[in-house]
Amino acid sequence: QKAGSKKVYEIHGSTWQSYCTSCSEVFDYETSYAQSFKEDVPHCEKCGGVLKPDIVFFGENVKHLYECQTLAEEADLLFVVGSSLTVTPAAFLPSMCPGKIVVVNKGDISYAYLHPQKIFIHAEWDIDDFFKAVEEAGRE
Ligand SMILES: [Zn+2]
Repeated sequence: QKAGSKKVYEIHGSTWQSYCTSCSEVFDYETSYAQSFKEDVPHCEKCGGVLKPDIVFFGENVKHLYECQTLAEEADLLFVVGSSLTVTPAAFLPSMCPGKIVVVNKGDISYAYLHPQKIFIHAEWDIDDFFKAVEEAGRE
């Protein structure tokens, strides 16, 4: 997103905003960040309800799953970056890709939902180092 990507699906939400669990008022990052230093459990300044970051907790439904599934099914190339491929349903998405799959993850990954033969490149690299190397290779 910082690089300019406009079509981004944050399947597990983001910390860029929070919302009130009582009145559904949405708060920007700066407001909810400041509120979290005022009290142990941040509360809505309008109704007193508890504020929750707009991230998906375990047991909650992920966001944009249909859109992500459609993109995976149409992709010629899919990057799996910084994922151990263990948490479903997101871990199912790479197996839906008919194209080449590049996995960049410094730690171990699970093959429970993605057969190793479907992986074109598995780089057990630091993400920044990997993409710097890709950028440099693109200049040669
Ligand atoms: Zn509220």
